[in-house]
Amino acid sequence: MNQLNDHINNQFFSIYGNTISQCPNYDSKINYLLESRKIFLFNQVLQQKIQFIKDQNTLLDLQLVHSKKKQRRKATEISKTYKCSQCEKSYGSEASLNLHCKLKHPIIESESKTQIEQSFQI
Ligand SMILES: [Zn+2]
Repeated sequence: MNQLNDHINNQFFSIYGNTISQCPNYDSKINYLLESRKIFLFNQVLQQKIQFIKDQNTLLDLQLVHSKKKQRRKATEISKTYKCSQCEKSYGSEASLNLHCKLKHPIIESESKTQIEQSFQI
């Protein structure tokens, strides 16, 4: 990135230097006020173009992020090493398995109570 900036700076200074060396002497026939106004307007057009390109860049960045999100692994590509102890299902992560157990095999309140009671029996 720094190299790119250096490159741009060098390019700018070489263009700037050339312009200064080629700068003509004052010409009374030229309306410099009009010329500066032209340059001012030209600059404004350029700034609008730069803004347009920036907006397009932002849009492209968003599209890139969006397409990255879409690239999910297929179900067959995930190695399912986390097997459910209560059914045939298996999952790629512990979190997925926990979620499955919570949804498909919820602990019934009375069962959990007896489990707690049992754990306190000596
Ligand atoms: Zn299960």
